[in-house]
Amino acid sequence: MNLAYIQEPVAAALEVCTDEEPLRVLLIDDDAAYRHLCQRYLSNVGPPSFEVVAVSTAAEGLAELEANDFDCLLVDYLLPDLRGTQVIRTFSTSDSERTPPTIIMTAEGGESAAAEAVRAGAADFLPKGVVSAESLVRSIKNAVQKSRLQKSAEAQSRELQHVNEQLNAKNEEIQRFYQIVSHEVKTPLAAAREFIAITLDGIAGPIADYQKEMLTHALDSCDQIAAQFNDLIEMTRLEAKKISLSKEKSSLDDVVARCLASVSMAIEAKQLYIKKRTTTAIPPFSFDRNRMVQVLSNLLGNAIKYTGPGGTITLAISHDADAGVVEIAVSDTGCGIAPDDLAQVFDRLYQVDGTGDSYMGAGLGLGLSIAKEIVALHDGTISATSVVEEGSTFTVRLPIQEAKSNNLGD
Ligand code: ADP
Repeated sequence: MNLAYIQEPVAAALEVCTDEEPLRVLLIDDDAAYRHLCQRYLSNVGPPSFEVVAVSTAAEGLAELEANDFDCLLVDYLLPDLRGTQVIRTFSTSDSERTPPTIIMTAEGGESAAAEAVRAGAADFLPKGVVSAESLVRSIKNAVQKSRLQKSAEAQSRELQHVNEQLNAKNEEIQRFYQIVSHEVKTPLAAAREFIAITLDGIAGPIADYQKEMLTHALDSCDQIAAQFNDLIEMTRLEAKKISLSKEKSSLDDVVARCLASVSMAIEAKQLYIKKRTTTAIPPFSFDRNRMVQVLSNLLGNAIKYTGPGGTITLAISHDADAGVVEIAVSDTGCGIAPDDLAQVFDRLYQVDGTGDSYMGAGLGLGLSIAKEIVALHDGTISATSVVEEGSTFTVRLPIQEAKSNNLGD
């Protein structure tokens, strides 16, 4: 979406008093001599020059305002039929968009008249006795410029609001689309998975070993597609702040045990070594168990995915009581990540070319960005260090004090 044009009205407003266009001024004053004086002050000046329409009553002035557009209204404070401030109020109530900036003039220049002029929204207040040609021209130019800047700022603000609404609507649309596609794909996918599983179990008849192997790959692929759809939905929900945490005081050890159990088969199949190191006892603290399982499973899953057979994965957990922080670090002896890529691995959909293997299945480059969002919802941080060909360490730091707010609402 191109927003550059939003700047144009500001530039136009700033140029208002240097262009050749005459400024149209409506002068309302029952004092004929003063009307002529003002008209003389405003003639033969410029650029910009002035086109003055002069009337003697509020009624005539209001009729002019109704019928024509003016750049500035110059009005006497005390008119026979209305006050100058009432003229502004009367017209702006019926047509605020077309109300020109107004300068109130008064013979006495009393403070109460000035205060009333400001309250009525006048751009300036001029005591008639001290008005010169120069001060009148300056006052009109300032009032017009200020009013145009204000209008352009209001227009920009409306435009930005409109753009914002459009973006929110688009975001909702994308979410709905993902949800529909996900539903449409996952339902038949679950059925296909079920048929494959039944066949694999030999329920539909005996199968040879090589058929078993192929069916196992098919089953993994089904799980991978389902996981990728889950990631997509999860990411859009996180971005739309539609995920809330369900925190409760829990033991991190339980979560770690759950995650290690879930990756044990993959570790074994890939002939990796896993070490768990805990320096101090971790006191129970408040966090969302399922979400933390999701974060750690992703880090462990990546470590497995990007480490060759015989490599080692280390899960180190420590507690800094003084800082009130728990640190969970997942290290591997895998392929590592080059510095340029490392700076981007937490970005949505970012994947490093040519890494990984087929065992854990390809991802969409969403896992780490989801992990980062979840950790941020816990007021924590996630970071990574890596050396190419030596391995990587992903570190999650979580505050263990009760956070001020624990969710962003559904
Ligand atoms: P993906 O689903 O592609 O793994 P992630 O967001 O989890 O997405 O990771 C983003 C990218 O970061 C991966 O494609 C991979 O290139 C790189 N990466 C993540 N973890 C590791 C790791 N432990 N070792 C090497 N590269 C990694």
